[in-house]
Amino acid sequence: MKQGLLFVVSGPSGAGKTSLLERLFAQDDNLRFSVSMTTRPPRPEEREGRDYFFVTPEVFAQARREGQLLEWAEVHGYFYGTPQAEVEKLQREGWDVVLDIDVQGAHQVRERAEDAIFIFISPPSLEVLGERLRARGTEKETDLARRLADAEWEMGFREEFDYEVVNDSLEVAADQLRAIVVAERCRIRRNPTNQ
Ligand code: 5GP
Repeated sequence: MKQGLLFVVSGPSGAGKTSLLERLFAQDDNLRFSVSMTTRPPRPEEREGRDYFFVTPEVFAQARREGQLLEWAEVHGYFYGTPQAEVEKLQREGWDVVLDIDVQGAHQVRERAEDAIFIFISPPSLEVLGERLRARGTEKETDLARRLADAEWEMGFREEFDYEVVNDSLEVAADQLRAIVVAERCRIRRNPTNQ
């Protein structure tokens, strides 16, 4: 069986990654979401094992030490990481896997998985991003200020990605994201390492 593709989706929080990915998953039956490990506390709507594996700093440190993580980063004061074994298993089973990770993590994946496809989700502007984060209201004020400051820094990584989707209209951006996935499935890969 043909091994699945690896899509890495990054961008500042509030750019709309989660909404876009929800739409993408609703439209596409061959995608699987890689559930990350994090030390951040769960938000009310979040479920263990679906959105994240919520772990203590000790459990996270152990996973890191044991080399269980494909990549990891500290984001907004918490640790996040991608369990490698699960991603590889899903790809072997033929699923195309989507990582929703920060720019530092994307940078690490680029070095380790050269066949991965990197997609950057941008907000139309930093002003719009600030408005969206405030409207979401899930963060404490201190977290929110930190996320805004980080967003500007994260935008600087844009050039490391293969594609950019500017999330102005959710409809248009969702179409673009889906088009990228479809196009990548049609790509003829020279010297494939993944077949
Ligand atoms: P949130 O706390 O809003 O769910 O996520 C904050 C940031 O952490 C987002 O940019 C998200 O993409 C990123 N993130 C989530 N999981 C991972 C992961 O496993 N690794 C890395 N490097 N970043 C992650």
